[in-house]
Amino acid sequence: MREKCGIFGVCGPGLEAARLVHTGLWTLQHRGQESSGISVSDGETIRTHKGPGLVAHVYDEAALSRLAGPMAIGHNRYSTSGALAHNGNLPDVSRLVAFLENNSIATAGANDSELMHRAIEYRLSTGASLEDAIRECFDLFTGVFSLLLMTRNEIAAVRDSHGIRPLSLGRLHAGFIFSSETCAIDAAGGVFVRDIRPGELVVVDKGGLRSVQLVNGEEKLDIFEFVYFARPDSILLGRRVNEVRRNLGVNLAREHAVSADVVIPVPDSAIPAALGYAGETGLPLDFGLLKNRYIHRTFIRPAQSLRENGVKLKLNPIPEVLRGRRVAVVDDSIVRGTTARQIVEMLRHSGAQEVHFLVSSPPVRFPDFYGIDTPRPDELVASGMSVEETREYIGADSLAYLSYEGMMHATGLPESRFSTSCFSGVYPVDIGPNAIRQKVPR
Ligand code: AMP
Repeated sequence: MREKCGIFGVCGPGLEAARLVHTGLWTLQHRGQESSGISVSDGETIRTHKGPGLVAHVYDEAALSRLAGPMAIGHNRYSTSGALAHNGNLPDVSRLVAFLENNSIATAGANDSELMHRAIEYRLSTGASLEDAIRECFDLFTGVFSLLLMTRNEIAAVRDSHGIRPLSLGRLHAGFIFSSETCAIDAAGGVFVRDIRPGELVVVDKGGLRSVQLVNGEEKLDIFEFVYFARPDSILLGRRVNEVRRNLGVNLAREHAVSADVVIPVPDSAIPAALGYAGETGLPLDFGLLKNRYIHRTFIRPAQSLRENGVKLKLNPIPEVLRGRRVAVVDDSIVRGTTARQIVEMLRHSGAQEVHFLVSSPPVRFPDFYGIDTPRPDELVASGMSVEETREYIGADSLAYLSYEGMMHATGLPESRFSTSCFSGVYPVDIGPNAIRQKVPR
């Protein structure tokens, strides 16, 4: 199951909601590329269109014109049985399953999103309002979720009590937008208002918007959103992602200045950090790797062999920028090490004299259970190898990671606002039976 997702919802009189959601999902494509779905309500009926593949392929004019109505929600990854869009992951569903089974509701084969949907649907079927249904089910949802739910005449947005995955609120004319990231609010022509708070439930219906704080939340946004996942033009926790990424590069330069002739970013995600690095060191920045913009995140390919081809397909070196030079290459993260290894080989093959690999985040030593789909510990290069061993594995002349403190400092926010589990092994939300899979860091 792929948990990486983008969710988007729109509600407002006279709005062509499905078209706006279409725009929003297109803008959130970087959060999930497997499939996409939109559900729309005209007040009487909920209609859904979904399919595998990218937003550009899933919807055509005929499909969008069938999705009429002023209220819609959508999801990149995996559309739902009509009314629920989920970004996140429940590492432990035992309470939810027990609840459903006690009420004679089938659970076999259902993923976490479907289980949540069934629990809410069950409450609705017993006469609860959407607000009450969510309120009553909230405690069963033990994990990470930013959710949008829709009935025929209302949309609800809710975040888990730690707010690990983002969810923002925007305004559009007399209506409202919910989006995983603010960049998609911009694209839909809306205005960003604020983040949905951890543990908060927001309901929009004909009467307008109301907010209920279901539990006292404690913000722990996944810091990996800043490192890699979110788009640089989005705002998270009041900070522009682009600016934080530049700061990551600046701090990397302060910690690890290397003797090099040129700084090159691994496009696209490391461009802001490479700019920060070049600016701080005074070294020239150049584009020595060209990214094929029609290849999507290689990370999501299932087999290692495919992933290795994926890097070559995605990145092509420009030898004139590299030949005879000492190259400082900046990437945002090393996870399995596959990408870094391929890149180093590619740069050397193109004539780079030295290759210094600089990473604008600390080593990823621990797996993710909260919805960004990083792999098992034995696949994480930094969980089994020291920095020196990793340098040897990727074949670089030097390898340096940004320190944990340097990363934290770049956000301009206190550590307490973040979940840092993939770097620190500290999991703010219970990961249940997964906990035994942990390794102790070196
Ligand atoms: P790897 O080959 O596994 O070390 O992949 C690291 C590369 O994948 C880096 O260049 C990142 O930009 C990118 N990356 C890091 N985390 C993710 C993720 N959760 N999903 C997709 N790509 C990622």
